Amino acid sequence: MNDLSVEEKVNVKSKNLDVLSEYSKAERKRAMNFAVIVGHVDAGKSTLMGRLLADLKAIDQRTLDKYKREAEKIGKGSFALAWVLDQGAEERARGVTIDIATNKFETEKTVFTIVDAPGHRDFVPNMIAGASQADFAVLVIDSNIGNFESGLKGQTKEHALLVRSMGVQRIIVAVNKMDSVQWDKERFDEIEQQVSSFLTTAGFQPKNINFVPCSGISGDNVTRRSDDPNVSWYQGRTLVDELEATEPYSHAVDKPLRMTIGDVFRGSVQNPLSISGRIDAGSLQVGDQILTMPSGETATIRSLEVDGEPSDWAVAGQNVVLNLANIDPIHLRSGDVICRASAPIANVTSFTCKVLAFDHLLPSMVDIHRGRLHVPGRISRLVATLDKQSGNILKKKPKIVAPGTVARIVVEMDQAVPLEAPTRIVLRAGGETVAAGLLE
Ligand code: GDP
Repeated sequence: MNDLSVEEKVNVKSKNLDVLSEYSKAERKRAMNFAVIVGHVDAGKSTLMGRLLADLKAIDQRTLDKYKREAEKIGKGSFALAWVLDQGAEERARGVTIDIATNKFETEKTVFTIVDAPGHRDFVPNMIAGASQADFAVLVIDSNIGNFESGLKGQTKEHALLVRSMGVQRIIVAVNKMDSVQWDKERFDEIEQQVSSFLTTAGFQPKNINFVPCSGISGDNVTRRSDDPNVSWYQGRTLVDELEATEPYSHAVDKPLRMTIGDVFRGSVQNPLSISGRIDAGSLQVGDQILTMPSGETATIRSLEVDGEPSDWAVAGQNVVLNLANIDPIHLRSGDVICRASAPIANVTSFTCKVLAFDHLLPSMVDIHRGRLHVPGRISRLVATLDKQSGNILKKKPKIVAPGTVARIVVEMDQAVPLEAPTRIVLRAGGETVAAGLLE
């Protein structure tokens, strides 16, 4: 009786492609993801990203004009650009099929995706999810006197530490609103000096930190070089050139398939169930059977999209939407991991990790975050404190680990979740990040 089902199994024909050879033949644009963090709530992040999207024609002029008219109606013309970004976020919040295009723009060589859309609530968990998929981060600093200083004291430090802990190595600092300080070189130099020292403390190497003086509102030094004589002192790259100059990580295309589900959504009649995310390792093609963990259920890929375009296959590093068949949506949640039955990821209830403590660490309850996955658990054992540089053991079985210390700890969870090394995890408690590091 159990085999009887009213739902018919969908047969999807596979082209049996050799995906890796297809990949080496294909001349695709590079795909790069980045996370945006701000030096202050009103640093101008939305305006700056809207400017990038508008100037690189990721949104059409009609939509932009519509926003401009609406914004002028309420006497806030400058808001139009910020709305470009916020609109997408709002649609997502309403559960409308995500229009990925609103967070995507292209240059000649590269497709860029802005991976985080942090709302004001739950900002850090969102950022963890975003940063774990990012090739680099953009830090937006408000160059206005006063604002910059208060920003640095605020959450910026935690955010910078977090993105670094999530494995992000390169950071581009947009020293924004330079129009409001008359493109003052001294102001820029002062910010560059302070932010550099602060970012190096957070673990970024000086060669991986770059600064661009710009204005999201006017667009100067964003996608076009400023012709304002006040900024003739700056001969460096525009923001978009700086983004372009990043080398994407090389992705493990020949390793077993791993993809963390970002979003699950019910789409059209044609594609009733879809998931989106970035492939972490391996490759896949239409017709493939996939396994989703922790549920251990299988599904068939009926069709797929890479960066919004239909495709027969996809490889690690690409952002994809997979349209699925032969699975009940209750088995798919954001944070779950897609793999194959031939090389599945294990579900574990405990793991050892090497973390940087943000707060005092004691055996205690914590939430474990990895990308979109977050589950309750506890620090069950403090194994040792370690030397930051060499990783050598300093002290075994410490009673407590002080903030700023690197330690090896054991974490346990009530439920089994798909986790494996190497992966970055963040531990939080009471709405604060207490530690971040690497699963061993
Ligand atoms: P967010 O909170 O970081 O996303 O900041 P918004 O993009 O919403 O901008 C905050 C405020 O700063 C708004 O009033 C903007 O009009 C203003 N703003 C944004 N970019 C610039 C800029 O380049 N120059 C100046 N002078 N003001 C800006």
